[in-house]
Amino acid sequence: MIKKIKAIHGMHDYLYPDTLLWKNIENIIQNTLNNYGYQEIKLPILEKSELFKKAIGEYTDIIEKEMYTLFDKNNNSLTLRPEGTTGFIRAIIEHNIFYNNRRFWYNGPMFRYERPQKGRYRQFNQIGIETLGLKSPYIDAEIIIIINNLWKKLNITNNIFLEINTIGSLMDRDKYVKKLILFLEKNSHFLDLNNKKKIYTNPLRILDSKHKSIKLLLNNAPKLQDFLNEKSIKKFKKLCEILKFMHIKFNINNYLVRGLDYYNDIVFEWKTNNIGKGFSKTICGGGRYDKLINNMSNGKNNIGIGCAIGMERLILLIQITKSLKLNTKYLIDIFLIPMENNHILKKILTIGELIRKNFPKLRIITSYLFKNLKKQIIQANKYKSRFIIIIGQKEINNNLIIIKDLYFKKQINIPENKLIFNLKKIFK
Ligand code: ATP
Ligand code: MG
Repeated sequence: MIKKIKAIHGMHDYLYPDTLLWKNIENIIQNTLNNYGYQEIKLPILEKSELFKKAIGEYTDIIEKEMYTLFDKNNNSLTLRPEGTTGFIRAIIEHNIFYNNRRFWYNGPMFRYERPQKGRYRQFNQIGIETLGLKSPYIDAEIIIIINNLWKKLNITNNIFLEINTIGSLMDRDKYVKKLILFLEKNSHFLDLNNKKKIYTNPLRILDSKHKSIKLLLNNAPKLQDFLNEKSIKKFKKLCEILKFMHIKFNINNYLVRGLDYYNDIVFEWKTNNIGKGFSKTICGGGRYDKLINNMSNGKNNIGIGCAIGMERLILLIQITKSLKLNTKYLIDIFLIPMENNHILKKILTIGELIRKNFPKLRIITSYLFKNLKKQIIQANKYKSRFIIIIGQKEINNNLIIIKDLYFKKQINIPENKLIFNLKKIFK
């Protein structure tokens, strides 16, 4: 017996009509980004492993546990990208496109070796946006305004909330981390093994721990906010002011640090309580990365801010809240039925092409089943067809075409040369 080969754990197939919902959401997002002058960039899925380590941070969850690393035939270490920004910056440096005031978006699969659960997969998709060369808080606000508009268009504003924070400069964080480590060392008996390990590798990540006892402990910990430089504080205040001016609701969460090392100043996440039990899940996260380009290149300097939407989580939320009404009652507009397997097929080919040329948006399928009419109609209904067009020898002899409306259960016989005219009345 042949062994059934299944997909890799945590990697999924998506079937119609889920793909239809997916496409609709993608179109809404991409049209909105286009509306703000963002341009698409397509990036490889596989990159050299060394690219990610330095950019994302050696002691982050992604690098420590989640990398999908493989070796090619020459024993080169390659990694399936866990996120988009690092590859984006690699491309910017490689092509020398440091122009200021540029805006980009990308869309595609990311890979992380995580324990799969609802909304957490090993292959998942992100639509990300990145802007280069702007330091004004207005560009930070622009990104938040765009994403906020997306939630409005997708009708999920009430199921999602925005948290923002400022984490200062890398220097501020270094000073703070020293003090935080001292505090955590003194209180290490309150930490579980996993968090104990992070004291010297990534103590900031302990800040967004979900454990109640750790949250309590952190009430007495030194606060990053007390270590921030004046400029960062000022920029953050300005951003809050712009968001208020634009009537965008947000909460300041001083424990929000994000899972990647390259961020500075502004960080933000949109979360929802509607997916899965327990903790709120992040749908979209991002922040400023003013030192990343410099860290990844020899002396090139530019600044940036970006964010990424997790498509599977967004789609889950839209499905759970039923926020986007898609008309899936009919999936086919016209189901063409040739009644016999002979020259009628050529006739139906010609007619099918003619209708498609006149109605490029209609979904038209030709049946080659050659069963009796009753069985064909059952098929048409299975396909969720709205109309059927039937052509048999009798119709050809009389220059007629039968159009059957499967919803109103009505049938009209029309002369062949009036077909397009009649269809225009139906599909106006
Ligand atoms: P989390 O805390 O949930 O692990 P993260 O901080 O690792 O998220 P980011 O690196 O900020 O996530 O990625 C941006 C978005 O991509 C997330 O908000 C989420 O919507 C989505 N995402 C991240 N990891 C996964 C995954 N394994 N499966 C599905 N979506 C994911
Ligand atoms: Mg993660």
